[in-house]
This record gives sequence, structure tokens and C-alpha cells, in this order.
Amino acid sequence: MSNVRGRLIIQFLLVSAIGVALVWLGAMWATGDTFHGYVQDQYALRTASLVPVLSQFYELTGGWEGVGLILRMPSITFNPGWADRWGVQSECQDYERIILLDARGYLVYDSAAGILPLNAEALQHAAAITVRGNRVGYVLVTALSASGDLGFLEQAFLSRVRRASLATGAVSMAVALFLAVRLSKGISSPLEALRDASSKVAQGDFGHQVADVPGAPMDMRELVRSFNYMSRELKAQEQNKREFLSDVAHEVRTPLTIIKGNLEAISLGISEPDEDTINAMSNEVTRLEGLLANLDQLDMVQASPALKTVPVLPSELVSRAAASVQGLSSGKGIAVEQRVEEGLPPVQADLDAVSQVFSNLLSNAFRYTPSGGTITIRAYKGYGSDHDKETEPFVTFEVTDTGEGIAPEDLPRVFERFFRGDKSRARATGGSGLGLAIAKKVVERHGGRIWAESVLGQGSSFFFTLPVSSPTSTSL
Ligand code: ADP
Repeated sequence: MSNVRGRLIIQFLLVSAIGVALVWLGAMWATGDTFHGYVQDQYALRTASLVPVLSQFYELTGGWEGVGLILRMPSITFNPGWADRWGVQSECQDYERIILLDARGYLVYDSAAGILPLNAEALQHAAAITVRGNRVGYVLVTALSASGDLGFLEQAFLSRVRRASLATGAVSMAVALFLAVRLSKGISSPLEALRDASSKVAQGDFGHQVADVPGAPMDMRELVRSFNYMSRELKAQEQNKREFLSDVAHEVRTPLTIIKGNLEAISLGISEPDEDTINAMSNEVTRLEGLLANLDQLDMVQASPALKTVPVLPSELVSRAAASVQGLSSGKGIAVEQRVEEGLPPVQADLDAVSQVFSNLLSNAFRYTPSGGTITIRAYKGYGSDHDKETEPFVTFEVTDTGEGIAPEDLPRVFERFFRGDKSRARATGGSGLGLAIAKKVVERHGGRIWAESVLGQGSSFFFTLPVSSPTSTSL
């Protein structure tokens, strides 16, 4: 039995025991009290019922002589049938005590004479017997006990009730134990499974799942579900990390192989360290630098704790982006146009991060657009053409080029890390395959989304959305 389970059972039993004890005490008190009153009423009735019998006797005989015979008659003496069945035996064969006093208060008859002493307090409840207006004596029917309070019959009844209550309490505790064992299992077994699973995950067995326990409490099942989700996520992240490392290794290996090959060829005297060879090696070093710069960017986007978002007008973002590629534009003979819808509300954006997104999209557009082409930067309300422009609190930004376009089979993959459309050509253009992955991360951290449309041979459009700044917007 686990610690948790043992504790649960003990606490459950403790609560049940306190409950049973309180109910038992309450029941005993209530039964005793009520029963006491009932017994007193019964004796008062019995006393009253003897008054006419005795006054008749006195009237007929003129005294109390021989009254004992009458009072011992079976028709007068009370004998409850159940007393025998319970095996209760009276020492004087009676079940009650009859006391008769004369008019001056002297004892005439006591059915328990010699067995029990007279109790002055009990005698106060005696009923007066009158014959034609004259008081001739007093009679009292009381319990067969020294105090005259509860007799052995009543005590037998009470102890029987007490025993029955104790038995009920014992049965309740047995039921409580049974329930405690069952219910605690519902809580402890998922906990035990979670404990085992956590230690497995801690040892590196990511993805380990805990089976759902249908009978367990909702919170517990929720905890199991959250754990399973966390475990799956850890596995996915681990997988992701491995793939990432192998991708990076692959990306680094290619330029290193080229540089090493060139250096070996030079050292073996196969090739000369001429301008071409040095240029080729220098290009690979530049590519490695670019890759490291992109990796830094990716790391920053993933690791930076919070974006410093501020309300900024879409027109400002677009003009900043256009200004940053002015040199490229004139150098490559590609026109850059800006189209910003009138009256757009400010968006909530981290200026540096969004500039990074534009920079990645624009450098791609320049890379894949031949000279004489056009790159258009747009900003308008809504989620893009297929969304309701009026209701969406987003602004869509678009970078469209008249370049070579993207093959339909590549389009869904362009945002993946290290994905490059045409590997050799993309390498030749200096791409690392990280630009769009970084842009996607940044946009998603802003709460927006990013997507692309393209027609091969005609050009590509990249869209991303940013949330409209509301008065309550804070840093994400
Ligand atoms: P890279 O650094 O290689 O450009 P990206 O992640 O920025 O990496 O882009 C991934 C791939 O998407 C590119 O290799 C290219 O095939 C394709 N691509 C991205 N932008 C464009 C564009 N404007 N025109 C054509 N192809 C593009």
C-alpha cells in the first residue's frame, strides 16, 4: 500500500470514526432522554390506574388490612411479555415496585420490601387515595430500582439499544473501510502511475504515457492528461532538437568539406592557391557566417523571454522596410512599391522583430526576382482576401514579387527549418533555409500567422498578420 493510499485510508477512517462516534453519542443521549420521560409517564399512568382499585378496597374493608393480597394478584401486577423473551429476570418476580402508605404516611405495603430501601424523593410522586373526600393513603408505582428512576427492565432495554447502536457503528466502520480502500485506489493508482512515469521521463524516456483511469476523480484524470501532453511535447521537442542538430551539422559540413578539399588540393600541389580557389573558399566562409548569423537570430526569437511590443502604425513598418532595401533596389534594378490602405489602426508589434520578418521576406524576394522586376509591400485590414475584412482585428502585410515563383509541392514546406526549394541553386544564392522559419516564429509570437501563395514563373506573395493594438495591449 503506497504512502498516499495509506494516508487516505487512515484519514477516511478517522473522519468516519468521528462521524460514527458523534452519531452514536447523539443517538444515545436522545434515546436515554426520551426513554426516561416515557418511562416516568408510564409509571405515572400505572400509579393513577391503581388509585380507584385501592379506594374501592378501602371503602369495602374500611382499612388496609389484606391489601397485599390484592396488589399481588396477577391482574394487578404488570408483566410485559417481552421481558421473558429477553431473558430478563426480576429478583422478586415482579417488574415494578408498588408502594402503599396510609393517610399519615406510614408504609402499609411495599412489593420490594427487604430488597430495596424506600426512596423519599420517589415517594413525592405518590398519588393520594381518597374515600368520600377523606384522604386514606398514598400509592406509588415505580421502577424496580433503588433510585426509582429506571428499573432493570428499562436498563435492559437501553443496553440492548446501546449494543445495537454499537453493532451499527461497527458495520458503518466496516463499510467505511471498504469504501476507503476502493476510493483511495481511484486517487492513488493514477498518482503512483504518474510518479513512475515522471521518474521515467526524468531518466530521459520522453513520451512515456500514463493510462487513463476512468473511475478516478476529474482533477486526477485532468492531471494525467496534462502529464501525457507534457511528455509527448518533451518527446517532440527532443526529436526536434535532434533533427535540428543534424540539420545544422549537415549545413556546416558542406562548406567545410569544400574548404578542406581545396586546402588539401593546394597542399598536395594539385591546385594553385589562385584567386578562383581563394574566392571559392571565401564564399564558403561567408556562407558559414550567414548560417551562424541566422542561427543566432533563431535562438534569439526562441529564447527571448518577451517581445517588447508597442503600438505602431502599419505605414511606418512598411516605409521602414522599404527604406532598408533601397540600396539593393537600385543595385539590382528591381522596383520596390508601397501600398498601404488609408486609415489603418496601429498594430501591436516589436519593431526590431517585425523589421527582421520584413528583412527576411524582402531578401528572399530580391534573391528570387530577376532585375527589372517589381516587389510590392502592402498593408490592409483583415486576414487577407479570404477573411472578413470588417470583423478581424488584424492588419495583413504582404510582400509580393514578380520573381520565379515556388513549385506547388514546395509551397507548404517553405516555412520549415533548412528547407530550400532547389538545393543547389538556393545554396548558390546564399540561402540557409532559415529565413522563413525565423519569420514564422516571430509572427506567431505576436499572435499572428504567416502564409505564402505563388504561381511558378510569375511570382510569389508572402502574407503575415499582426494584431491591432487595443488600449489594454501589453508586452507579449
Ligand atoms: P533561404 O535562406 O534559403 O531563402 P528561406 O527559409 O528564406 O531560406 O526560404 C526557404 C525556401 O523558400 C527558399 O530556399 C526558396 O526555395 C523558397 N522561397 C522563399 N522566398 C521565395 C521567393 N520570394 N520566391 C521564390 N522562392 C522563395
